[in-house]
Amino acid sequence: MEVFLARHNGFCYGVKRAIKLAQDSAALEGKACTLGPIIHNPQMVERLASEGIGMVDTLQEMTGDTIIIRSHGVGPQVYEEAGVAGLQIVDATCPHVKKAQMSAYSLSEENYQVVIVGEKKHPEVKSIFEWSGHKAEVVETVEQAAQIKTCLKLGIVAQTTFSGEEFKKIVNVLIDKSNDIKIARTICTATDQRQKAAIELSQEVDLMLVIGGKNSANTTRLAQLCSNAGCKTHHIETVQEIETGWFNGIHKVGISAGASTPDWIIKEVYEKVQNMESLLEEQDIKKIQEDDIIKGTVVLINHEEIF
Ligand code: SF4
Repeated sequence: MEVFLARHNGFCYGVKRAIKLAQDSAALEGKACTLGPIIHNPQMVERLASEGIGMVDTLQEMTGDTIIIRSHGVGPQVYEEAGVAGLQIVDATCPHVKKAQMSAYSLSEENYQVVIVGEKKHPEVKSIFEWSGHKAEVVETVEQAAQIKTCLKLGIVAQTTFSGEEFKKIVNVLIDKSNDIKIARTICTATDQRQKAAIELSQEVDLMLVIGGKNSANTTRLAQLCSNAGCKTHHIETVQEIETGWFNGIHKVGISAGASTPDWIIKEVYEKVQNMESLLEEQDIKKIQEDDIIKGTVVLINHEEIF
């Protein structure tokens, strides 16, 4: 069985930066606290907790002096509330997300009807919505884009992890909605590179494993894209989820990982898949032995007959 890693996978610049800021903050003050999970990977969040980097869901739960804003960003009112509460802020918002937030803010200030192309419930999209002054429309599909009313000025902003191809289709629908349209190019290159590499690889293998948090939008999209490309795909968070049955009759396996997936998890999965052939052989031998036991005829013999 051959195993291939996608050309681009794992931690992106924004995630590395956010983790480093949190670790530096903990090293400086003995502990640190993030508002919500710093990245969408439960295993990494757990590891950071063991290094003294905790998490609160709201500012009211804070007991320390410094709050770390996670990579997905927050709306302007959180900065205000933190200021009023006398908290210091370490801003780990990814610069690409910041660009999307600021685009929504300035478009809204210039009286453009802002349309955010992304997942309504994703924390990043919520933060962009808040920076638009709570005035933006959020669309995720071509059908939803078709429902947008025509207007004098239309400004389009994308969730940084949105599929480039889907974004183009949605823009093609929105283009008829106004004569004055501004498009902020906010899909980040890390996302684009990972998506293209995963699609390419999925077209050359029999099975794709996409590793990353089940709560990670960019990992979920990678898995969707591989599946849409016609390749049997499993989205897993850890090596423990791998089932040997997936590999029966499989010759080529591709591995991709989202931008928030740590290297150590990618390595564990890679090594397990590399050893899969011997695991399958062991399983076959065990099965043959079990079958023999099950199918074997029981013959009762006397002690005397043995000797
Ligand atoms: Fe930033 Fe892109 Fe990484 Fe998201 S995927 S954290 S936008 S670099």
